[in-house]
Amino acid sequence: MESILVLTHADDTGSTLIRASLETVTAGTELAAKLGAALIIGVVAHDGAAASALASTGARLLVVSGDAFSQASYATDAAACEAICRAAKATIVLAPSSARFSRIMAGVAHRLSGAIDTHITAIAATDAVEASRWFYRQRIEAVITRPTRPWFLLLDAGTHDAFAGASSEVPVEQIAVELPARRTTVTGFKTPQQDVQTIRPDAKLLFVAGAGWTKKQSDGQIHADQAGSLILEFLRNSGASLGSSKSLVDQGGDGNSVLPFLTHMNQIGQTGAPPRHPKGHSTCCHGEEPHVVGWRFINDRRAISIDPNCGWTRGKADVVYIADAFQVMAKVNELLTTK
Ligand SMILES: Cc1cc2nc3c(=O)[nH]c(=O)nc-3n(C[C@H](O)[C@H](O)[C@H](O)COP(=O)(O)OP(=O)(O)OC[C@H]3O[C@@H](n4cnc5c(N)ncnc54)[C@H](O)[C@@H]3O)c2cc1C
Repeated sequence: MESILVLTHADDTGSTLIRASLETVTAGTELAAKLGAALIIGVVAHDGAAASALASTGARLLVVSGDAFSQASYATDAAACEAICRAAKATIVLAPSSARFSRIMAGVAHRLSGAIDTHITAIAATDAVEASRWFYRQRIEAVITRPTRPWFLLLDAGTHDAFAGASSEVPVEQIAVELPARRTTVTGFKTPQQDVQTIRPDAKLLFVAGAGWTKKQSDGQIHADQAGSLILEFLRNSGASLGSSKSLVDQGGDGNSVLPFLTHMNQIGQTGAPPRHPKGHSTCCHGEEPHVVGWRFINDRRAISIDPNCGWTRGKADVVYIADAFQVMAKVNELLTTK
């Protein structure tokens, strides 16, 4: 008989669970219901009150809290998760693929003599628990089963709805952790400015810039500076995440005009990233297959291109505007600013 443990952690406030944690809670409640198994949720946070958001799950709640767990560090986070796992004795452990948990969970699985699989996108339970993940640049989906227990599954963000139940005071079991010696002291945070940090995995919208932004326009001139301002203004106003076509980010290496805030990290596609956002909006991009394959997990696709024969018009986007993206985005920014 399986038993399910969901590991969660708080954000920098120390008292609110991150969205990816709440998505993993949804996955855990669904799996426990399918298996008729007991559900336990572990919380690592500065403030144990973070668990109040989980009151309506009805799960047994195991909490590790205190100053030592307000900042991410391998030693303390791994010790916290290990202690929760030992107290829960669950056979299946689900955790979010957050930066904080991704780096410790293989170590925790090893300490528990368990097995781990990462980048899990779905979990099914028929006769056995089956975890799905994609390989080879999102082209092949594998369904994995394992006999080893505990079996740790790190879930990709954006694959489940975030758990949303009424918050209330809830009894929790405080788990004691023997703290290891720490060599790291966190002295503070340095956060990049909004304009610099353009990749936002939790954004509702993915805005993609294509090479057209830096090509000669109808007046025979290149307007890369204007393109950069329009894109950054839109990102500021909308909170969208920024993606790029390969051609655009490659141009930097070719000595052409480039948008300075774009790197290969922004590239979407076969040799880039396949991000997950509810909506995507492509601008000045042709919609070629090696690029569009990276849009696999974008539900609602829109594109602006001046080419009525571009790839997007051939069934790859839900809505295509045959228009000049410079004009359209200037108007969109104007509307967003007045709003
Ligand atoms: C093995 C392999 C892997 C690849 N992997 C990737 C990948 O991971 N990601 C990726 O993106 N590509 C990838 N590519 C490249 C891909 O095939 C295309 O070359 C690339 O996506 C084209 O980029 P683009 O559409 O931005 O540029 P272009 O093809 O140059 O298209 C620019 C578009 O902008 C339009 N335009 C110009 N001005 C305006 C304007 N004012 N308003 C509106 N539209 C305008 C033009 O009409 C044109 O349609 C790969 C290719 C190969 C062979």
